[in-house]
Amino acid sequence: MNRMKVGVLGATGMVGQNYLSLLDNHPWFEVVYVAASPRSAGKTFAQAVAGRWLMARPIPEPVHDLIVADANDVTQAVGQCDLVFSAIESDKETIRRLEEAYAAADIPVVSNNSAHRATADVPMMVPEVNWEHAELIKDQRQQRGWTRGLIAVKPNCSVQSYVTPVYALKQAGYPVSAMIVSTMQAVSGAGYPGPSSYNMIDGIVPYIGGEEEKSEREPQRILGQRSNGQIIPDTSIKIAAHCNRVAVIDGHTACVSLKFADRKPCLDEVKAIWQSFVSEPQRLSLPSAPIPAMIYREEPDRPQPRLDRDAGKGMAVTLGRLRSCPVFDIRFVGLSHNTIRGAAGGAILMAELLKAKGYM
Ligand code: NAP
Repeated sequence: MNRMKVGVLGATGMVGQNYLSLLDNHPWFEVVYVAASPRSAGKTFAQAVAGRWLMARPIPEPVHDLIVADANDVTQAVGQCDLVFSAIESDKETIRRLEEAYAAADIPVVSNNSAHRATADVPMMVPEVNWEHAELIKDQRQQRGWTRGLIAVKPNCSVQSYVTPVYALKQAGYPVSAMIVSTMQAVSGAGYPGPSSYNMIDGIVPYIGGEEEKSEREPQRILGQRSNGQIIPDTSIKIAAHCNRVAVIDGHTACVSLKFADRKPCLDEVKAIWQSFVSEPQRLSLPSAPIPAMIYREEPDRPQPRLDRDAGKGMAVTLGRLRSCPVFDIRFVGLSHNTIRGAAGGAILMAELLKAKGYM
């Protein structure tokens, strides 16, 4: 199969570097283009990230000497990229306009940025949960007059550890009506260099700007239904989130209490639902689909970021500590790798899904 030629916007950043590592030798996608801010533009990629390459593996050989383009200049990508992954950090209005300009130039955009997460005709997907929202792209293209271009976005990295287990329960006939989530989020979630060591060592920061709102709102849209060119959020689930930044490099952990809408499964049934969960990415054998999608750990002290974040090459959600809840019905701990499943890896899986479904 001819590989699609892809560009990474924001390639020098935390998420961008994860893209380059994950896309090295990808069977469907080949990185031919890297772009970042005007500060990096014109340098070779290796020069641009000198002293700030943060991946365990060296810079992939095919991108080492690529000249970094200015991500704000869409014309440079035209004719070079069949698809761009967007991992730029900038103000929301700039990102919104820029991603639309790429799509209007016939370049599909798969984005990690939050700028388009509430845009009515833009699907925000966790491929195991709402792959059917990809159909919104037909409305998007019709409304905007795009033929090849599209915009699809990933949700916030905090939601990956609890939205899939909640969806699996809903699918099995046990919809959830309320949940309280306390997240412990890794410093890599704030990009590089992130919060200062003085703030993080010996500390927990009980505030991440905008994160609680996203953690409460985005799952409702992901679990919502497509209707008349938009997604009607599932507001039957009420969510209260407490988001904390902790001194962990990678891996967001969530302690979750759930209340069921009506019928309540027993704990063994919940575990069985999670362990047997298979969804569209697994059925389609997408290259980045983790099998299994969710792992349940029986040990009383798991999951833990250092031990479990790399499960399924960083794409699986690890669950544990399932027990009954004296206030709601059940409680558990979920963990996922924020820069892989929660960012670059999750977006690559979404791009694979869009390709497999014929949108690109
Ligand atoms: P980061 O490490 O700060 O990297 C930011 C990237 O954006 C760099 O490549 C930077 O280029 C580029 N950039 C900055 N200003 C720009 C401008 N004016 N024009 C064009 N490019 C510009 O951030 P990150 O953590 O990778 O996050 C990237 C995006 O992904 C953000 O929207 C973030 O919210 C989202 N996200 C992050 C995570 C995570 O776990 N980190 C998870 C989900 C989503 P230079 O190197 O040239 O400055």
